[in-house]
Amino acid sequence: MTDYFRTNIAAMSAYIPGEQPKPGSQIIKLNSNENPYPPSPAVLTVLQNFNSEWLRRYPNAYGEDFRQAASQVLDIPSDWIIVGNGSDELLNVVMRACTEPERKVAYPTPTYVLYSTLTQMQSAELVEIPYGENYEFPLDELIATNADVTFIATPNSPSGHVVSIDELRKLASKLSGVLVIDEAYVDFAQENALNLVQEFENVISIRTLSKGYSLAGVRLGFGIANPNLLSGLYKVKDSYNIDAIAIAVGVAAISDQVYKNTCVAKVKVSRTKLSIDLQQLGFRVWDSQTNFLLVQPPQANAEYLYQKLKEQGILVRYFQQPGLDDKLRITIGTDKENQLLIKALFNLMN
Ligand SMILES: *Cc1c(COP(=O)(O)O)cnc(C)c1O
Repeated sequence: MTDYFRTNIAAMSAYIPGEQPKPGSQIIKLNSNENPYPPSPAVLTVLQNFNSEWLRRYPNAYGEDFRQAASQVLDIPSDWIIVGNGSDELLNVVMRACTEPERKVAYPTPTYVLYSTLTQMQSAELVEIPYGENYEFPLDELIATNADVTFIATPNSPSGHVVSIDELRKLASKLSGVLVIDEAYVDFAQENALNLVQEFENVISIRTLSKGYSLAGVRLGFGIANPNLLSGLYKVKDSYNIDAIAIAVGVAAISDQVYKNTCVAKVKVSRTKLSIDLQQLGFRVWDSQTNFLLVQPPQANAEYLYQKLKEQGILVRYFQQPGLDDKLRITIGTDKENQLLIKALFNLMN
């Protein structure tokens, strides 16, 4: 039975995504960091006017229309942009191109669990370096590891904190391998790594339409890097990795910056409110530059609260891992959803 699989695949466990209830179910879903607001109205117009000819034919293999649109918005040449089936695919593409069993992959923990899964898939050597007590960045250890691929999610999940551009610059300048800056939450943050991409050939910023642009359902992400780095990545991506619908919808979404910025601004206001309300209930709340909060309940009963909330139709994220099993990660919902969460927590805690 185990003979079907490569040794490393047989030995590894599968990545477990967050629970995804059916759309329309009466669930308050605060577990996967989706945007609580719908995508830009321009997206719906594109879908309503979609020409079936675009479905009959293969899509452009490089998501050219999306590259052009992103190039305009970011003010960076379109040949510096690679488009992917969600940013998860692009993380995988970097691994396929840059790792093999003798090569090292490093990242600070806790962080996005998929990095570990992707490393095991390649049988690469995994070097996990813990963040400090208050998420101090382990710069010297990461430099000393000098991995072939180093992942930094900033803002990070599940902590919500950011790694400063100065520290990223120091890291990029010392590494001989690739530095992947996972900027899935960049739309909610104050800074971004675009300048570093232009300064260093070994740096790629990976972004997504899933969070800031409310498009987790279409699977669209992109990477920004020097064309020399992208040339290797293009060799290992699927030929037609992004479908025609995702490209058309993505162009409409990224071109409507006013709408995106409005939604992001609302989420940030709600983030401040929710943080204050949770602190009033006695929670420790970490600073966040994302659309979620990492929180620690006062009575050391995170798993109990997670279960009880779930029974009441409120999903938050609980990680059964050392350092996280006393905390919850809560996505910022609409103000109404956040208030229902606070009410439910108040009742459970009294
Ligand atoms: C959500 C998330 C992603 C995945 O984004 P997709 O584009 O939906 O695949 C990648 N990295 C981090 C840190 C995330 O939180």
